[in-house]
Amino acid sequence: MTNDKTREPNPVGLSSSRKAIDELDREFIRLLAERMRIVREIGDFKRQNPEAPLRDEGRERNLFEAWSAEATSHGLSGYFVGRVLREILNYSRRHQERVLVDRGQKPSSKAVRIAYQGVPGCYSDLTITKVFSTRDAARVERTGFRSFGEVIDALEADEVDYALLPIENTIAGSINEVYDLIARRAIRIVGEEVWPVEHCLVGLPHSSLDDVRTIRSHPVALQQCQAFLDGLVGCVTESYHDTAGAAQAVASENDTSIAAIASEEAAQHYGLRVLRHGISDQSTNLTRFLLIGKKPEPFDPRQPSKTSLLFSVNHQHGALLRCLQVFDQQDINLTKLESRPQVNAPWEYLFYVDIEGHVDDPAIEKAMGVLRTHTNHLKVLGSYPCRTSEQEVAMRAVLDTIVAEPTTSEPAVVASNGHSPALIPDSAVKKSAVKPDSALKHCSLGSEGRKPVRVSGVEIGGERFVLIAGPCAVESHKQIMEAAEMVKQRGARLMRGGAFKPRSSPYSFQGLGFEGLDLLVEAGRAYEMPVVTEILQAEDVGRVAEKADMLQVGARNMQNFPLLRELGKIDRPILLKRGMSATIKELLMAAEYIMAGGNNRVVLCERGIRTFETSTRSTLDVSAVPVLKQRTHLPVIVDPSHAAGVRDLVVPLALAAVAAGADGLIVEAHPNPAEALCDKDQALTERELDELLPGIKAIVASQRRLF
Ligand code: PEP
Ligand code: MN
Repeated sequence: MTNDKTREPNPVGLSSSRKAIDELDREFIRLLAERMRIVREIGDFKRQNPEAPLRDEGRERNLFEAWSAEATSHGLSGYFVGRVLREILNYSRRHQERVLVDRGQKPSSKAVRIAYQGVPGCYSDLTITKVFSTRDAARVERTGFRSFGEVIDALEADEVDYALLPIENTIAGSINEVYDLIARRAIRIVGEEVWPVEHCLVGLPHSSLDDVRTIRSHPVALQQCQAFLDGLVGCVTESYHDTAGAAQAVASENDTSIAAIASEEAAQHYGLRVLRHGISDQSTNLTRFLLIGKKPEPFDPRQPSKTSLLFSVNHQHGALLRCLQVFDQQDINLTKLESRPQVNAPWEYLFYVDIEGHVDDPAIEKAMGVLRTHTNHLKVLGSYPCRTSEQEVAMRAVLDTIVAEPTTSEPAVVASNGHSPALIPDSAVKKSAVKPDSALKHCSLGSEGRKPVRVSGVEIGGERFVLIAGPCAVESHKQIMEAAEMVKQRGARLMRGGAFKPRSSPYSFQGLGFEGLDLLVEAGRAYEMPVVTEILQAEDVGRVAEKADMLQVGARNMQNFPLLRELGKIDRPILLKRGMSATIKELLMAAEYIMAGGNNRVVLCERGIRTFETSTRSTLDVSAVPVLKQRTHLPVIVDPSHAAGVRDLVVPLALAAVAAGADGLIVEAHPNPAEALCDKDQALTERELDELLPGIKAIVASQRRLF
């Protein structure tokens, strides 16, 4: 929006357009309300039919596919429209829970009173709105307190019905004070909620970023935006008891040199303006909250649930291990383990455990019985619907696989004995035919089998084939955003983009460096793809690893041993490309350099080698795929782009690699190759990507793998 009315070309036309939009939005909401009414009817059906599953993944998939196709036919982005559907489905699921919990009772007309720490507009306050969107409450009366202890005091004194407290954050970790409080007080955990924290810099309506000299916020928020703050020269920070409190203070002092770090909602609440969005150092910043009551509350047993426990053990050898083994024996999944010092008992600890399931489940009941014999004290803090579970993540995965182009592949044929008659790449590889190589101490294929590598939530070398795509080099904001949209819509789950380019000529474009890396990360965030980028020198490892999800070692650096050693020290997955003149054994030894340092997350990449043949840029050594699969447990992917050198050859080479059993592909793609600053001839366009995708899907399906 612009405040400068003089810039509006045609105010009359603009206002009629806005009126039209307002009308459409009203219609949109009316349709949504109608949709929710039907969702409730389905909820009623599920309540009356306890055998019916709560979730139908096949149906969800079809919905995503239908939305994506419909969106594309209107010239819209299937991906973004799919995200809208994701939110609607999340909301529908929660909406239905209400019907399931109510068990047909009339909604209560009583107000629900809830206590939180902070002032209106703080993250706890926002989370209360989310929690009670699915709970039956005529009205929600909120009271903000200064400290966590006062919140629990209010609950214990029956001044409120519930307390909502933050328990952990994905960046800052556990909130010890809250853990200590729930141990000491007579409370019950009845729910959890996850809030995505999106820090903004907020200031007075007429202030600008250039005016700001003082930035206030909660110390954790200041710490989470360190990189942004470091970039503001001459600014000082001031600690505040909470983020919204800092925003409130900025609003009350009419000084444009003061700003706060808080949510956009807090800015709105206090009449402030967002000076800069998304200033957290990390893209994922989630806070988990506990909804605390005084007695257990029922919920539908089909809902995935969690149980929180608290116990102490004798200070004895193996005591904790014995407790944890109980869960393993009952096949119970542990989602969190936390320890806190016991008051007045130096070096003795209380253990908090979150497990999947309900305390009334037979396996958990049994586990509790045994656990009691191993503990001094065991307390069930509560069972509640799980909000950190796969559901939302799973929907994201479904959305990831729905791409504009509908699949042309037939589902895999399964023979009557249940085995697939189709070729499974691994079955073509006789492991016993190759003697283990004693030089390969870490990457050799052993009895434990293949070991997939996870890259910020995307697994390479697992059951799903992974497509990585993006431009050779990051060139501009526009280029990388368009590239992200293009590849995301065509099945890419990771995005590539070079910020540091190893060019044969020192006079060629060398990449945008760290600025390019920031652009790549921004595009990856916008389209929910982790990013991989090349690292050229050991000195940059730390800085690049802070931002990129995966670091690539290019062909020219495969034997840069100081670089490999440096990469061995970090906790980031590495994409190791085969050198142009390197043997397969040398590639594996390079992987050993990284793994010997303690970093086991290495993905190997065949990208073509130098031979006497000059028709292609390099000769793609397809045989490297099955050969590597015989020797190593590491995932193997193929880069057909740098082997082919021209776009027409990329698709056939890519498909050959898939057929040979590669775990994934990395291809170069550009929204406008004619303007590409690097490797323009081999960059795929939408056309080739549209050809590649059905081919991959068909081959992968015939191998009984997933895409
Ligand atoms: C690249 O992937 O951008 C690249 C330079 O590839 P390679 O190291 O395989 O030549
Ligand atoms: Mn390239």
